[in-house]
Amino acid sequence: MTLLTANSPTAELQALDAAHHMHPFTQGAGLNEKGARMITRAEGCWLTDSEGNRILDGMAGLWCVNIGYGRRELASVAARQMEELPYYNTFFQTSHVPALNLAARLAELAPGDLNHVFFASGGSDANDTNLRMVRTYWAEKGQPEKNVIISRWNAYHGSTIGGTSLGGMKGMHGQGDLPIPGIEFIDQPNWWAEGGDMTPEEFGLMRARQLEEKILEVGQDKVAAFIAEPVQGAGGVIVAPETYWPEIRRIVDKYGILLIADEVICGFGRTGNWFGSQTLDIRPDIMTIAKGLSSGYMPIGGSIVSDEVAKVIGGTEFNHGYTYSGHPVACAVALENLRILEEEKIVDTVRDQTAPYLKEKFESLGNHPMVGEVKIVGMMGSMALTPNKGTRAPFAADAGTIGFMCRERCFANNLVMRHVGDRMIISPPLVISKDEIDTLIDRARTSLDEAHAQAVSEGLFA
Ligand SMILES: *Cc1c(COP(=O)(O)O)cnc(C)c1O
Repeated sequence: MTLLTANSPTAELQALDAAHHMHPFTQGAGLNEKGARMITRAEGCWLTDSEGNRILDGMAGLWCVNIGYGRRELASVAARQMEELPYYNTFFQTSHVPALNLAARLAELAPGDLNHVFFASGGSDANDTNLRMVRTYWAEKGQPEKNVIISRWNAYHGSTIGGTSLGGMKGMHGQGDLPIPGIEFIDQPNWWAEGGDMTPEEFGLMRARQLEEKILEVGQDKVAAFIAEPVQGAGGVIVAPETYWPEIRRIVDKYGILLIADEVICGFGRTGNWFGSQTLDIRPDIMTIAKGLSSGYMPIGGSIVSDEVAKVIGGTEFNHGYTYSGHPVACAVALENLRILEEEKIVDTVRDQTAPYLKEKFESLGNHPMVGEVKIVGMMGSMALTPNKGTRAPFAADAGTIGFMCRERCFANNLVMRHVGDRMIISPPLVISKDEIDTLIDRARTSLDEAHAQAVSEGLFA
């Protein structure tokens, strides 16, 4: 066959894509009918499609391209590493320079005594590692019955069997007979949708205390760990009320269970610090990392674990690992990404300059007639669409109808902004400039206006 190129006609690209390529989280038949948008190049915060449109990427790919697209340094490092040592494993008493350097660098960046790294290829498989690691931890300590992991409804922890089970997405559980046994769920701290008449502070405490109730219900001697994202990402950028995390920390300490912070989105500058756990003072025993670790340039993830967990796990043979755990090319690229994040002071610039600017502009969208709650932490934000800000009412139309409408308007206006149900979410590259933030906000407002007009004309603004 003749391979197509980025310069091939869009219709040909779409036809071949439809014929053979199955897309994640997509209804294939519907997509194949309309044809996927073909992204051919990218630079900085901007994507180019096969029609030559320039699209502002308000999602940093899939929350991952923290340093922006087109950094040739990463390409050079990858090429050099491929020539020197393209692959070797770390299973059988061997190691290599990129893996040990990256592990040491992560130990330096991670808070507290999180000093040891187990590598995976992404976030889902890193959470599979965590699941097996915390159960093995308690078994090694002579308490194998401590094997229940508590998570939260509407959490996202990946799409493998372990990741889906740890996640709280009912639509995902429904496919493949999940979750696996031994996972329990408490409710999420989503005040806008579920807070009723409580103040956010009261609600935050109440939702945190569900963890204590669940521990007592399951039995303290049966609970291994609690897993949570510092800020829920795929669930709609849900920022917990301020009372939530301190209370979670109190409960975790009181009952002596392990705390896993899933930092796959929040890590590497997204919240204005290196890790979301620092922004929210979470102090976890294990952090899941992926996405921004390599800014998406190579697939890599992992678990950064405490001295104590590493010591206990180190006492046995942990029968676990991936062919690509600590892949040398991925590690070398991640190291170069971390160098750029640090040397160009990207995290500091986010915290001190661009995130405050984005916050002000993004919150100004709150005066739009269709926008209710606006939440933003660092470079991840969301707004709840509603027909009634006062009552926080959902739309009468099926959940997600208006959100999807708004997403389509954004895409037509060359802005990538995602919707989760009727929440609109952004997570731009950390290198976005103030000018680009202005463009993002202008396009978002135009798209909101158009979606609002459409909802009104179709009788759905109710
Ligand atoms: C994306 C994500 C994952 C899964 O990572 P993959 O690399 O897609 O396997 C896990 N946890 C969180 C919080 C994520 O956002």
